[in-house]
Amino acid sequence: MVMLIDDQAIVGKLLQNMLAEHPDICFHYCHNPSLAIDEAISIQPTVILLDLLMPGINGLDLLKSIRQHPSTQDVPVIMLSTEDDPSAKVKAFEWGANDYLVKLPDKIELVARLRHHSTAFIHKLQRDRVFDALQKAQAELEKQNIELLRLSQLDGMTEIANRRYFDESIQIELKRAVRSQLPMAVIMLDIDHFKTYNDTYGHLQGDDCLKTVAAILKQQVHRPADFVARYGGEEFVVLLPETELAGAEQIAENIRSAIFAEQIPHKASKTAAYVTASLGVTSGFPASTDTAEQWLQQADALLYKAKQYGRNQVQASPLRIF
Ligand code: GH3
Ligand code: MG
Ligand code: MG
Repeated sequence: MVMLIDDQAIVGKLLQNMLAEHPDICFHYCHNPSLAIDEAISIQPTVILLDLLMPGINGLDLLKSIRQHPSTQDVPVIMLSTEDDPSAKVKAFEWGANDYLVKLPDKIELVARLRHHSTAFIHKLQRDRVFDALQKAQAELEKQNIELLRLSQLDGMTEIANRRYFDESIQIELKRAVRSQLPMAVIMLDIDHFKTYNDTYGHLQGDDCLKTVAAILKQQVHRPADFVARYGGEEFVVLLPETELAGAEQIAENIRSAIFAEQIPHKASKTAAYVTASLGVTSGFPASTDTAEQWLQQADALLYKAKQYGRNQVQASPLRIF
């Protein structure tokens, strides 16, 4: 699509005739330069032929406007001039012209240049479109990858972190605590008499109970680095970086009392009329030789102690002095 902007109708007629034998070239003639931008926006030329000298408006000023308008700024512009004036050429190229032809150009040369600039522009538009689509696809893929990663880290039922994510996280936290010489705490939680809860109320209600406990755990830990995960069937684990034993014990106690305060009926429980949980808590300054298993074994041993001492309670002890 060629657009000619020229005040002389005769030039329009002559160029139209030159292009007449090329049916694949569409020709639009604009005789009024003040309408040129609006017409260009509507017909979307792939190349513009622009007269340098027109009454009322200078071709170079119009070129400047074409280059400034977002809809026309990249369209190739060939300046048309009656004379081969080097200083006019320099200005035209400085102001963003792509080419310069002296009126009236030779037909073969005109067609060759129009085709060259049009093709280059069409290819640029195609490249831009492909690039845009690629960028959108890439952004979408990144979004999906983030979502996939998030889902792979979550326990589907309770929507807190799963065991695998916890296992990775505790390794990282152990190393960080060793490096920064800060304490770390682990809480293990197991619901009391959960087998008889399932037997009494059914597995689905058992699942609901697990969701409630998970929600309580999330509510009871507040720091951004605190980490709550489902460790196994009805066992949960809480990782508390930079937390000493007294603080971790307090959080464990808050969790225990919040679960009790939820008053989830459990008529088959030998401990209380409601669902209760037992918790083991350990804390300390990790050594570089410590393993996650050591820490979890210690918390688990304290949880076992809580069960033995009557359930619905917290047992806490520093790491290594058990
Ligand atoms: P204790 O007080 O000693 O912890 O007794 P318990 O009955 O809670 O302990 P036990 O380990 O014998 O039973 C755990 C039960 O948790 C057994 C299993 O049916 C139930 N459970 C494990 N995972 C799920 C689950 O995803 N949903 C439901 N509803 N129950 C589960
Ligand atoms: Mg258990
Ligand atoms: Mg249990």
